[in-house]
Amino acid sequence: MNTHWHGDHTGGNGVFGPEAPIIAQTNVRKRLADGYSSPNYNVKPAPKEALPVVTFDQTLSVHFNGEEIRVLHFPHGHTDGDGVIFFTGANVVHMGDDFFNGMFPFVDLDSGGDVEGYMKNVGDVISKLPANVKIIPGHGPLASIDDLKRFHHMLTETTGIVRKKMAEGKKVEQIKADGLPAEWKSWSWEFVSSDRWIETIYRSFSARSGSQKP
Ligand SMILES: [Zn+2]
Repeated sequence: MNTHWHGDHTGGNGVFGPEAPIIAQTNVRKRLADGYSSPNYNVKPAPKEALPVVTFDQTLSVHFNGEEIRVLHFPHGHTDGDGVIFFTGANVVHMGDDFFNGMFPFVDLDSGGDVEGYMKNVGDVISKLPANVKIIPGHGPLASIDDLKRFHHMLTETTGIVRKKMAEGKKVEQIKADGLPAEWKSWSWEFVSSDRWIETIYRSFSARSGSQKP
């Protein structure tokens, strides 16, 4: 099961493909099959054996190892093909990159991702989680519901700060110069620094409102 199309989550497909059917949301197969070129990527089309052979639009269950393993599609969050996997017997949930534990997330705006959608999806997952669930994030250490709630809190707080400044007419360079409050400093990491997170929020909400340009 692929949680989305990014290479750090599908790079093993070419090895697993000849051995087992690969399952993914429809847009994951599309992006892997077509290859993709954007300012951030230049990805060649994946070889046939690395493509998902079972695709789904909204949800799919695999009955395996004595439990139901259910994958649900969440639209326009990290990408446009995100799947969150519920291991219903083991009480484990794999969130793919809809969860970066303790880190600012990468939201792939060039692959159909959207910051507001991302926050909504995280909130929706929280509302569906059973008690004492173990959560596997796409990046970072194994997590609890409290860790996921902290992540959701960070998303709403930092996004709120940036949106408020946007409403005041500040440009992205000014907002980056202001920075985020010290309590969010430790969430900055090499791939998604505080600056990159601010830029992502700014670009995502500018695209939504259609009124502001960076
Ligand atoms: Zn990813």
